[in-house]
Amino acid sequence: MVLNYPGGLFLPPRADERTLLTIVSAPLVVTAGKLDEVYLALEGRSDTLLCREGDTVRAGEAVAHLADGTPIYASVPGRFDGVFENRGRPYARVTADAHADELPVQVREPEKKRLSDLSREELLDAVRTLGIFDVWSGDWLWRRARDAWKSDVYRVVIDLTDANGWSLTGCRAALRAAGDVLNGAKVLLQLLGATKVLLIVDRTQRRQAKVFRALINDPSLVVLGEVEPKYPLREETLYEAIYARRLPRGRSAQDEGVFFVRAQTAEALYQALLSGRPQTTRWLTAAGDGFGTDVVVQTPLGTPWKRLLELCRFKGGEYVTKLDSPLYGAPAEGVLGGRTESVLSSLPEKRSAGHCIACGRCADVCPMRLQPYRILRTRSYRAVKTLAAACIGCGCCSYICPAALPLRERIAKHRNPSENP
Ligand code: SF4
Ligand code: SF4
Repeated sequence: MVLNYPGGLFLPPRADERTLLTIVSAPLVVTAGKLDEVYLALEGRSDTLLCREGDTVRAGEAVAHLADGTPIYASVPGRFDGVFENRGRPYARVTADAHADELPVQVREPEKKRLSDLSREELLDAVRTLGIFDVWSGDWLWRRARDAWKSDVYRVVIDLTDANGWSLTGCRAALRAAGDVLNGAKVLLQLLGATKVLLIVDRTQRRQAKVFRALINDPSLVVLGEVEPKYPLREETLYEAIYARRLPRGRSAQDEGVFFVRAQTAEALYQALLSGRPQTTRWLTAAGDGFGTDVVVQTPLGTPWKRLLELCRFKGGEYVTKLDSPLYGAPAEGVLGGRTESVLSSLPEKRSAGHCIACGRCADVCPMRLQPYRILRTRSYRAVKTLAAACIGCGCCSYICPAALPLRERIAKHRNPSENP
């Protein structure tokens, strides 16, 4: 099955398959011994701390419970240092100790039910207890799954593509842990009560598609789909690529019965269920000229960007970092956040804005089929608000504009007047 992908644009540069294989076969694994400390995101005053300052904690041991019972686990072994605030958000800090150990993997007891025998409620509880983080939404997977029960989900889509041009995180998951991704997808079917899994792979990554084709032995349950590797790949555009129709205004894919998950979430879900050990790490790509070499790293949750960039041999100086999007990503500051799967680095682009020459390229590339140049011309408040409401903020229009007009930023200001370009 080859799906047509609407809108978007092709972004240079992109790692070729040979580079990909080199990187994937030699990932840099960031170990606790190389980290000084991690900051684990909490939510507020109603959180319950399970440790006292100075307590020794093991990686995989709960240090706090959020108000809804979600456990927060130490991602490195070390000392619990209490709660710190950064930009208005509380974080539990653990200072790493290279000599401390991790929680052992819990061996499944013989009488314990097999995964396929667990009810949806039991599975949901296991997903919550094991702290599975959903990279697609940046939230806890159990919360999304619980909400999805209200929507009558019939299809799970596992997104294995890396449409931001430089990221290799999805490809890595596909080539190194394809079986776990597939098993994680089947667990999600059971958890959500869905009937089919669709694995979306990048059409140019033939090896990735081959690996999965060989693994799929129940095509009535699991289907492989290929998409053009165009940027940006978002829920709205992926949905349209798959179903050849747009999401009704104001409705999410989940409202329409389709549950999107990134490959590494499915992988982490299966591995945690199998081992009985909570998820404490994430995969991430560091790529671009600002790094000595492109790497795919497995890093403990809550790693400060400053330290992570050092470990990835970031050159610093004039180089700038962007998270996930080469066009408009935020700089890598603070702590590794919920949705981030890649950090890109390059020299800043120096272009000065001119006047619109009415070439129409911004409208050609807009994946939402909008006419971004209208923001410059229309005086209609309503037209501008409609444009701003439908914009997904991908930045394709700004990127392609020969006059270097900051279209995305201008549109964003109408959606959120406090946002400054
Ligand atoms: S108008 Fe919005 S959705 Fe369309 S290309 Fe520009 S930023 Fe992307
Ligand atoms: S791409 Fe730039 S110059 Fe061309 S129509 Fe759009 S705003 Fe005008």
